[in-house]
Amino acid sequence: MLLSGKTAFITGGSRGIGLAIVKRFLEEGANVALCGSRQETADKAVETIVAENADARVIGLSPDLTDEAAVEQAMRETKEHFGGLDIVVNNAGISQSTALGDYAPEDFDRVVDVNIKSVLNGCQAASRLLEAGGVILNTSSMVSKNGQPSGVGYPMSKFAVNGITVSLARELGPRGIRVNAVAPGVTATDMVAALPEEMIKPIADAIPLKRVGQPEDVANAFVYLASDLASYVTGDVLHVDGGMTV
Ligand code: NAD
Repeated sequence: MLLSGKTAFITGGSRGIGLAIVKRFLEEGANVALCGSRQETADKAVETIVAENADARVIGLSPDLTDEAAVEQAMRETKEHFGGLDIVVNNAGISQSTALGDYAPEDFDRVVDVNIKSVLNGCQAASRLLEAGGVILNTSSMVSKNGQPSGVGYPMSKFAVNGITVSLARELGPRGIRVNAVAPGVTATDMVAALPEEMIKPIADAIPLKRVGQPEDVANAFVYLASDLASYVTGDVLHVDGGMTV
């Protein structure tokens, strides 16, 4: 198993890509603290996982990700509970598709808070608690390469995630902490999976591998980057998008 005995703290772990990361990390032998936006959703995700595998070493937390002290406290709880902390995954995020003329200032604030400040807070708290060999992983997006036709706040935030990732790889590398990001393409989480086939097909047709991604496709990249297989990889943004941004 690739993550045997490691402890991971994963934000946005209650559903979608984050939940797939949680499940794959557990399969690879990790202990996991998953974070949801509310304690209820975190508890529900833990319940579902434990119902499938009673031996899963998983707890649910719900810190306010925009509050660095709260995030650090949740990581300390994780460290105490499992006896260590090795991997922090800053995955929680929201998307936006608002046209530029319709943007309200609070729309920009919201995407900056959830997609940028939360990632920065997670990195800062992690930098205080991780030791040499520690790993920080951030969720970027394919839009961090070419932008998107509407909703400038979302690509703006993911370009920032890439900037945080490459910069902190340089700052934390000398301490033996690796920092990488995964940039998913169109991935079949609840939102995408709910779209009718006639909407999915043209999207899939535009992708070189001719299908949208599954959360597990993305989660596998996180497993690789979290594991010792990637021991000499830092500052990378790994695109997992079926070739969409080639
Ligand atoms: P999702 O909506 O299914 O899950 C988002 C997760 O983030 C949930 O667990 C939610 O609780 C958490 N979250 C959202 N707002 C939060 C807040 N204010 N505080 C705390 N937690 C909050 O979305 P997803 O598709 O699984 O997206 C996960 C990540 O992947 C995001 O960063 C997203 O930008 C990125 N991404 C998704 C796709 C895609 O096609 N699904 C593509 C590229 C990148």
